[in-house]
Formats: sequence, structure tokens, C-alpha cells
Amino acid sequence: MKNTVPLAFSDHNHEKCRAASINAAYRQGLRLTKWRQLVLDLLLEDHRSMGAYEILEKLECHGVKPQPPTAYRALEYLVEHGLVHRIEKQNAYVACARPDMCRNAGFIVCKTCRKVAEIEYASSEADLLHIAAESGFETKSAIMEVEGVCADCQKSA
Ligand SMILES: [Zn+2]
Ligand SMILES: [Zn+2]
Ligand SMILES: [Zn+2]
Repeated sequence: MKNTVPLAFSDHNHEKCRAASINAAYRQGLRLTKWRQLVLDLLLEDHRSMGAYEILEKLECHGVKPQPPTAYRALEYLVEHGLVHRIEKQNAYVACARPDMCRNAGFIVCKTCRKVAEIEYASSEADLLHIAAESGFETKSAIMEVEGVCADCQKSA
């Protein structure tokens, strides 16, 4: 492990995160239509997760009002292409924090501020999946989510 404190929980130049995401979209040749772009921009504001409803509300604050299915389709597209991840424990979405090397994404999720740190799975997780497959287990969800309270939120509690 090189960097023990994940990006989302440390001071960092977030512009780089945004740029990496936009670059990844261009590299993959994704078509960022108006709504996809707006939803992605919103999620790229921070490493916090947002529920679909919150995304709709925020878009309205920005003066645009999509029909809910339009916003959901935009979200689905972004999830499908790996620019956004769904955080099951929060029923929410977060922008991919490492679009250049997003493999085996695992998440450390703060219940209080909803910050989500994205990390690469420890190999023990990969072993779990391997063992599940070897034993004929049909894996339905292999998303690693660790939920708790981040250091900043503990301090301000
Ligand atoms: Zn960032
Ligand atoms: Zn990712
Ligand atoms: Zn927190």
C-alpha cells in the first residue's frame, strides 16, 4: 500500500479528479449528452454520494428540470460506463474516483457526511470471490462496502 489515507478523506487537488473523469469519458468515446454531462458534473463536485432524488433536486436548483426517467437514464449510462458507481448501502451514487485504473473498486463510506473513498480491493476479497466461484456459488453482489464514520466527522461529533 502506497497511500494509506484514501483521496476522498485527504486534502487534495480535486480539479485533478474532475479532469481525470472527463478525460476518461473522452478516451472511451462516450457521448456525454446534456443530461449525462449535468449529472456527472454534479457528482464530480465532491467525493460524496447522492441519492437519485437528491440529484434531481440539485439539478432543479441549477435551473434545469429533467423528467425523473431522463435523469435516471443518464445515471444508468454513467454507471454502465464506469464513470459513476452505485453505493448499495446508501442507495446512492458517487463519481468514480480513479477512472484511469478502476478495477475491483471497493468503497469506504461515511454515514455522516456521505463521503466515499474508493480503493482497490484487498486481495483477500478477490480470494473470497474466487472461492465463491470455485464452490459453484452464484455471486449476486460482489461490491465491497465498508460503512462507518470518517475521521473528520468523528472530530466534529
Ligand atoms: Zn477529488
Ligand atoms: Zn471507480
Ligand atoms: Zn464523514
